Amino acid sequence: MSTIGDRKVRRLFIRTFGCQMNRYDSERLVEILGEEDFQPVDDYRQADFIFINTCTVRDKAEQKAFSYLGRLKQLKRSQPGLVVALGGCVAQQYGEDLLRRLPHLDLVVGTHGVSRVPAMLARYETTGERQAFVDFSYDFGDESDGRSQLCRPEVSSYVTIMRGCDNFCTYCIVPMVRGGERSRPSDEIVREVASLVECGVREVTLLGQNVNSYGQGVAEELDFAGLLRRVAQVEGLLRIRFTTSHPKDLSLSLMQCFADIEPLCPHIHLPVQSGSDRILKRMKRGYTREHYLRLVKELKAIREDVAVSSDMIVGFPGENEEDFQGSLSLLEEVRFDALFSFKYSDRPQTAASRLDGKVEEKVKLQRLQTLQSLQERITFEKNEVQVGQTTRVLVEGPSQVGGSQLSGRTPQNRVVNFQGTPELVGEEISVLISAGHAHSLEGVVCVEDNVNLKVVKERSWCGK
Ligand code: SF4
Repeated sequence: MSTIGDRKVRRLFIRTFGCQMNRYDSERLVEILGEEDFQPVDDYRQADFIFINTCTVRDKAEQKAFSYLGRLKQLKRSQPGLVVALGGCVAQQYGEDLLRRLPHLDLVVGTHGVSRVPAMLARYETTGERQAFVDFSYDFGDESDGRSQLCRPEVSSYVTIMRGCDNFCTYCIVPMVRGGERSRPSDEIVREVASLVECGVREVTLLGQNVNSYGQGVAEELDFAGLLRRVAQVEGLLRIRFTTSHPKDLSLSLMQCFADIEPLCPHIHLPVQSGSDRILKRMKRGYTREHYLRLVKELKAIREDVAVSSDMIVGFPGENEEDFQGSLSLLEEVRFDALFSFKYSDRPQTAASRLDGKVEEKVKLQRLQTLQSLQERITFEKNEVQVGQTTRVLVEGPSQVGGSQLSGRTPQNRVVNFQGTPELVGEEISVLISAGHAHSLEGVVCVEDNVNLKVVKERSWCGK
């Protein structure tokens, strides 16, 4: 604990595993605890409160979270005042049992409990009572709790529009830990987006397990396409993105939004999971390879420059060499702009965990490597094509490559690194692409295209 004036400031460290949904919850926790005089720190050893936000979608992520938690045992012994909490899907799945298994864990906070953390902490600090909160209620009160009044100094922000999922794909644990699908009223979403824009946010990503089926449980008659049109009217909002889309629910009216809604970025994440109809059926995905390919074709016909990224699982139970070749050929056919690929792992309570035909670990690994090197070639080729083109880039902040490099994203969600000054952060600028790499692009700021941007300090060779 430290003091600022006569305020006691406690230090918070959050470690987040998993998807955007978890990152969003972690951001909210920083805001909520900020109001309680908690300040985030980068080093967990300096913290008074450590919150581990976990993911259980893949066995590896769950193991990582447990191993991280294990490392805190010693720290907790040497700093008895330290409070350790576990949140997210693992907390939701195992609940109170975790308190019995892990004596150095103080709080267990299920996926719907982020707004309860201050109260749980206060109770722990006054009574020493270790607590678990796991709830499946679909209340969105959490999101509205003062969140819109808080300003976050960021360029791009997530906004949850729905939670849970009704699909029960056979490999997926999400419906079990996040509950059934429930959408958030559009007025509340629009209000939150407007207040983020007022705080300086330029881009929002609308978040849900399956945004395409938005509308369930909401009194008004509004589908996801309708919601996008409403959000696009927020004054000052530069860019809109959304994730994730289930192919079986991708409607023509949603696809049409890519042509009609100016702030909507031409990028869609459309998880395919397999290129084999036999495996798609075992996964209960509700579409065929042909249907998926038709969707991509229709999207490209509506907006030629739309980028498509996807998820793919290798080694699903029963996947044979022919099925796997089907996935490879799908990659060649679609030529995804980006792909997130994973080895199948059994998750508790899922239907796939009970399926026969489990694929050997070494075969899964081999397939994953083959798939990933094919996609790397495709991404690299697609990035190379960008060289010499000028593109609009929303500048997000310092680049991971270090130095005075900044990083931003194109409308198609490609990462671009370039030399620039910090004043550019939050601006949408023109960048000439000078090199394409396997995972990113390199570019040079075009002064000529940004004459009205006084913040551009140096001239470049762009357009010369
Ligand atoms: S759509 Fe399928 S994979 Fe996605 S969250 Fe729902 S059950 Fe899981």
